[in-house]
Amino acid sequence: MIKYNLVCKKCNKFFDSWFSSSKEYEKLKKLKHINCYNCNSLEVEKSLMSPNIINSKNKKLQEKNKQFDYVKKTLKEYQKFIKDNFKYVGKNFAYEARSIHYKNKKKIKGGIYGNASREELKELREEGIETETIPWINEKDN
Ligand SMILES: [Zn+2]
Repeated sequence: MIKYNLVCKKCNKFFDSWFSSSKEYEKLKKLKHINCYNCNSLEVEKSLMSPNIINSKNKKLQEKNKQFDYVKKTLKEYQKFIKDNFKYVGKNFAYEARSIHYKNKKKIKGGIYGNASREELKELREEGIETETIPWINEKDN
């Protein structure tokens, strides 16, 4: 026995029907013995409903992945820009940020970037030192 999901082209109703084999289905179809349970139309076909649903789900997933790749790519470009234009100070970020702010160092073009704890960032903000936090992707995390 084989179960087909059928669709009526006239009224767009979906319904399941059992056949002993796919050959039987073809035979009955040729003999016009398969009709719609709803409107009796003979314009009944095997439905592609299920695969379509799977495809549309996959498409959504693909779309999401595409968006994620795009965000990742954008972030990486952003990171590259920062690496090219800013001086990396690592864990000394808070210290360096203060020395730029208070000593008005003009040596460093563009600024600095590095790591700081949430606490340090809060302190900097309270002292009126503007910092920006961006998500950072490590090359290894690809
Ligand atoms: Zn119908």
